[in-house]
Amino acid sequence: MNLPNTADIVIIGGGVMGASAAYHLAKRGMKNIVLLEKEEFFGTGATGRCAGGVRYQFSTEINVRLSQESLPMIERFKEEIGQDVNYIQCGYLLVATNEKDAATFKHNVELQNRLGVPTQLLSGDDVRARLPLMKFDDAIAGTFNQKDGIVDPNGVVMGYVSAAQKMGVQAISKANVTGITVSDGEVRAVQTSLGEVQTRMVLNAAGPWAGLIGQMAGVHFPSSRFAGKCSPPIRSRKCPQIFHS
Ligand SMILES: Cc1cc2nc3c(=O)[nH]c(=O)nc-3n(C[C@H](O)[C@H](O)[C@H](O)COP(=O)(O)OP(=O)(O)OC[C@H]3O[C@@H](n4cnc5c(N)ncnc54)[C@H](O)[C@@H]3O)c2cc1C
Repeated sequence: MNLPNTADIVIIGGGVMGASAAYHLAKRGMKNIVLLEKEEFFGTGATGRCAGGVRYQFSTEINVRLSQESLPMIERFKEEIGQDVNYIQCGYLLVATNEKDAATFKHNVELQNRLGVPTQLLSGDDVRARLPLMKFDDAIAGTFNQKDGIVDPNGVVMGYVSAAQKMGVQAISKANVTGITVSDGEVRAVQTSLGEVQTRMVLNAAGPWAGLIGQMAGVHFPSSRFAGKCSPPIRSRKCPQIFHS
C-alpha cells in the first residue's frame, strides 16, 4: 500500500497498542487514519515476544480495573472483531511459602474481591488438594482465579489491524518513521522510509522505541533505554500457570 500524502492522524507502531488505537479510533468515527509499522509484519515487537499471559490477579486497584476493562474485550474478541485469539481460561494459581507473601496474598484478594473480581484465597491444604500430583509441602497459602489465562497476542494484533482496515484505516508495514516535523509547537508531518505524510496529529505507540519517536518531535521521556536489546522470545503456552513465591 502506498503512503498517503495526508492523514488526520498517524499512529506510529503496529504492536497491540497501535493496532488497538487504530481500531478504536475508527470505530468511534475518526477518518483518514494511518498506522505505520517499520517491520514487514505487525506485532513483531514486544507484543510478538511476550508470554501471552492475561489476568485479573493484580495488587493495585488501577491494574485490577484495567483487567476488568480489557479481559471482557478479549472474551468477546471473536464476536466483535471476527478473530479467534485462543483465550484459554486455565486459571492462575499463585502459591505462598512464607508468612509475608501469605499476608500480601490476603490483602490482594481482599482488594480484588472489593472491586468485584472473585479471586479465591486458598489455604496450604487447598493448594495441595488442587494439585495432588505436585509436591507442595511448603505451601501455606494460595490464590486462584479461573478467568486468568493465556491469549495469542499475534491474533489480537492481526484482529485489530484487519478490523481497522475494514473501516478504512491505512495500515502500512515496512514504513520506518525517521522524523517528525514540528513548527510553532505543532506537528506538521511525519517522514518515513516510504516518503512523507502531512498530519496535525501523531499517536506514539512505538513501545520500547517510543522514546526515540518522542525525540523526533522534541519530546523527551525515558523509555527507549532497552530498545533493540530485547531478550529472545519467550513462548510458553503451559497451562495452568503456577507462580511460586
Ligand atoms: C494478549 C497479550 C498478552 C500479554 N501477556 C504478557 C505477559 O504475559 N507478560 C508480559 O510481560 N507482557 C505481556 N503482554 C504485554 C507485552 O509484553 C507488551 O508490553 C505489549 O504488547 C507492548 O505493546 P506495544 O504496542 O506498546 O509495543 P510493541 O509491540 O513493541 O509495538 C511497537 C511497534 O512499534 C514499531 N516501531 C518502533 N519504531 C518504529 C518506527 N520508527 N517506525 C515505525 N514503527 C516503529 C515496532 O517495530 C513495534 O512493532 C501481553 C500483551 C498482549 C497483547
